[in-house]
Amino acid sequence: TSSALLGPAEIRDLAGRLGVRPTKTLGQNFLHDGGTVRKIVRIAGLQPGERVVEVGPGLGSLTLGLVEAGASVVAIEIDPVLAGQITDTVKARFPDADFEVVLSDALDVTALPGEPPTALVANLPYNVAVPVLLTMLQRFDSLERVLVMVQAEVADRVAAVPGSKIYGIPSVKAAWYASARRAGTIGRNVFWPAPNVDSALVYLERREPPSTSAPRERVFAVIDAAFAQRRKTLRAALSGLFGSGAAAETALRAAGVDPSARGETLVVEQFARIAEQLDQRAE
Ligand code: SAM
Repeated sequence: TSSALLGPAEIRDLAGRLGVRPTKTLGQNFLHDGGTVRKIVRIAGLQPGERVVEVGPGLGSLTLGLVEAGASVVAIEIDPVLAGQITDTVKARFPDADFEVVLSDALDVTALPGEPPTALVANLPYNVAVPVLLTMLQRFDSLERVLVMVQAEVADRVAAVPGSKIYGIPSVKAAWYASARRAGTIGRNVFWPAPNVDSALVYLERREPPSTSAPRERVFAVIDAAFAQRRKTLRAALSGLFGSGAAAETALRAAGVDPSARGETLVVEQFARIAEQLDQRAE
């Protein structure tokens, strides 16, 4: 059956024509399965005409699925060869597509052309998946929903709940912006080249950030310190930040948190309460 999406033959041809040799440093694993692309697009639940930002369009596998669904797409790609080709790939199949590409490291993008995107849909480069996810949520308030494909283990971490072994910095920071859940597993054989690990989808829905007087940066500093040494109590882990163990203990009690608890049991609101104490000390 004919399809506007990229299968194994199209991926091979395109890569060959461009002289693309996928690199691990840029997390270049390209989807060559239209069924997987349509599954991702379906889970994203896009509205026709919805403005979507994609990070790392690569050869265009997912981009074409988004355009096929009627989305208006702005894509951010770091690789100049891929960024230089993607518009032709899209326009050859969808001449009327509303599509733009930005050649940049996604971590450096502070403004996007066109309408503010309401959704982020991406097959993220694995080595920078969490920083890219958090940075996009932080910089682009307009993002209401996110569907990203990441390493399965990273998906679990982002969606983890307090008290679980894998609950950590990505889980708490993501919870500042959104509620997250895992949304399906993707095997490694739908990629070229096939990665060494399975992938999974994480779906995030924007929520109100915790109501707190502490700035986000300060809350995140508390989170970083609390998880820097997972096995330490909060009293010990936060002693550096508060100047001493005794000061940390006082702050934790004032925040209503047991000083002998560990970071992995706290929700993001509790980290905010602790950061408020840091606020007061600084004044
Ligand atoms: N979306 C394509 C697909 O599904 O086939 C490619 C996904 S591939 C896992 C990741 C893509 O992100 C590559 O095209 C890579 O060049 C690009 N990339 C890597 N690091 C990036 C960064 N910091 N900013 C923007 N794009 C990046």
